[in-house]
Amino acid sequence: MSIAQNLLDIKSSLPDNVTLVAVSKTKPVSDLMEAYEAGQRIFGENKIQEMTEKWQQMPKDIEWHMIGHVQSNKVKYMVPYVKLIHGVDSLKLLKEINRQAVRWRKNINCLLQIHIAEEETKFGLDENELDTLLNSDEFKEMNNIKIVGLMGMATFTDNQAQIKREFNHLKKIFDALKNQPTTQNLQPTTLSMGMSGDYQIAIESGSTMVRIGSSIFGSR
Ligand SMILES: *Cc1c(COP(=O)(O)O)cnc(C)c1O
Repeated sequence: MSIAQNLLDIKSSLPDNVTLVAVSKTKPVSDLMEAYEAGQRIFGENKIQEMTEKWQQMPKDIEWHMIGHVQSNKVKYMVPYVKLIHGVDSLKLLKEINRQAVRWRKNINCLLQIHIAEEETKFGLDENELDTLLNSDEFKEMNNIKIVGLMGMATFTDNQAQIKREFNHLKKIFDALKNQPTTQNLQPTTLSMGMSGDYQIAIESGSTMVRIGSSIFGSR
């Protein structure tokens, strides 16, 4: 099946309130253009250099999302154009994003990544670390970033019950966050969870943003 057809099939299966990020990492610009021509405007990449190269070559009405783990020393390369950074998992990284955003006179939207998988390899904050970060004086003084929600990845497993449990856990943390008073730099509306193998479960658990790669572009 074609990229355009995959995209249409997935889009028609998503509820209206769920945003689709087309994860295009490792794929050539020609594949991304096929998705663009089928109407897709949000693309997710996990390497800053690859995202920058594609940004330079592609139409400028695309929203570029950074979905991978970000090294602080590379933040400056994407701040000029990145729309949403999904994987923020430390105060140090957030500080650097804010610092670069100040330099560029921009406001950068971020999601905080929460560790929900039982696997040890995945990045992310636990609930205590999330609390500590949000209550720190340093965070309160960051004026050029905005936390617009949370992101998480379930364990890579066939065990649907486990995946569901992990997504439900993230949804609970998200709901608690939404119940806090909003501030200038904390306005959570987005819950980024679900990939090709588990996005239906994620949606059942309250996802508002799915990151889908291989089901659109084929395996990597
Ligand atoms: C690669 C990746 C995806 C997409 O994975 P697929 O299984 O190809 O849909 C989603 N989120 C993150 C963080 C990724 O690195």
